[in-house]
Amino acid sequence: MAAQKKAKGKIKIDRERCKGCYLCIQVCPNNRIETEKALNKKGYAPVRFKEEVKDNEKGCTGCAQCATVCPEVAIEVYRAK
Ligand code: SF4
Ligand code: SF4
Repeated sequence: MAAQKKAKGKIKIDRERCKGCYLCIQVCPNNRIETEKALNKKGYAPVRFKEEVKDNEKGCTGCAQCATVCPEVAIEVYRAK
């Protein structure tokens, strides 16, 4: 079982706003975003946050690059204090 590492940030994605452009996936330095198979109400395959951080991965840093690049303003970033 992989130990949970404490991440410094997390994001919330509004899956109904997402248009499936995947710019956020391309821009995330730590590969914290992945596609979902189920479509949203608009018929796009939205993205979701990979909450679980595996041993060989880095968690979300709260850098907000994903939120900055998102043309639909579908991502909110939270940083741990
Ligand atoms: S950048 Fe925004 S609209 Fe594009 S896939 Fe990511 S969350 Fe969806
Ligand atoms: S805030 Fe930064 S590290 Fe976290 S998911 Fe967005 S781009 Fe990736």
